[in-house]
Amino acid sequence: SLTLGIVGLPNVGKSTLFNALTNNDALAANYPFATIEPNIGVVDLPDPRLARLAEIFGSERILPAVVSFVDIAGIVKGASTGEGMGNKFLANIREAEAICQVVRVFDDPDVIHVDGKVDPMADIEVIATELILADMETLEKAIPRLEKESRKDKSLLPQLEEIRKAQTVLEDGRTLFKAQDEVDRTLLRDLHLMTAKPFLYVFNADEAVLTNAERQAELRAAVAPADCVFLDAKVESELRELDDDDAMELLESIGQDEPGLNALARAGFHTLGLQTYLTAGPKESRAWTIRKGDTAPKAAGVIHTDFEKGFIKAEIVSFSDLDAAGSMAAAKAAGKVRMEGKDYVMADGDVVEFRFNV
Ligand code: GDP
Repeated sequence: SLTLGIVGLPNVGKSTLFNALTNNDALAANYPFATIEPNIGVVDLPDPRLARLAEIFGSERILPAVVSFVDIAGIVKGASTGEGMGNKFLANIREAEAICQVVRVFDDPDVIHVDGKVDPMADIEVIATELILADMETLEKAIPRLEKESRKDKSLLPQLEEIRKAQTVLEDGRTLFKAQDEVDRTLLRDLHLMTAKPFLYVFNADEAVLTNAERQAELRAAVAPADCVFLDAKVESELRELDDDDAMELLESIGQDEPGLNALARAGFHTLGLQTYLTAGPKESRAWTIRKGDTAPKAAGVIHTDFEKGFIKAEIVSFSDLDAAGSMAAAKAAGKVRMEGKDYVMADGDVVEFRFNV
């Protein structure tokens, strides 16, 4: 499913962050009737375009897209060998689409660090190593089987070759995500390798780091191509209790101009390879989540499966054209509204009305 699995060493602030992810309005708004798993947290993807659409269409409400996170029980050294929570832990990670590691960079003598000192890159290494070991085990089982099968079926040879390349990367102590330019991860998809998933790092920081652009740039470079976010989990978990003015004041006191969860939502969405399209009318202005590269019928299917099956065409205007025109009628008069067919690949910010048979 399209979630990011939250992992990290003990005492880095996972529960604190997760508390902020579950204790916000996004959950209630998006799952009003469903009982949702206690280990799922969602956060709204901030999108200023929706307010403008609501203004143009006189919409009663705004519904942004959301990003969901699943809390995965703490990893310990030795997880890959099945010690303690190990196997269940790994099974949970396999189900997530991407991995979100919380990494401690805050300084606090009252909070014990499992390894005795705050060292973000070492923490990242510990988790990566466990996942690398688990993937190596998967490959060791897969290789003899593929060797045998590929003797009869030569079409499997490219896959086998890719697996051997992957093995070299892992033996080298690197994740397959990090080595994405060397190994074609699409050929490895069937193996559900954990280090092939996209990674996102949440640096749980204090004011000292949040106001230190140089330190942030250093960490950002160290984790590339993974994306990363800097936030103060403790502050994030407290924002909900405050009114808007007090919340802004608290954020400003640690050098921030918006909640860290906003940045986390954007980075999470990006890491998952998602994009949105928009619909608008008097009832609501809404963002819908699709994968990058999805076609118009596929996008319609997100609203309702019948929309996909009965798809005829999509009436589309880009948000920027509609914004500039000021109304749908003006956008049409300016020739900015297009009819697109079933092969059209959706662009971010398309404002859409689908035509379909029922
Ligand atoms: P987990 O084991 O990774 O789930 O960590 P917790 O969320 O339980 O946090 C461990 C301890 O660190 C708790 O006492 C938290 O209050 C504290 N903590 C979490 N985030 C921060 C933070 O950003 N700054 C500070 N100073 N303490 C934090």
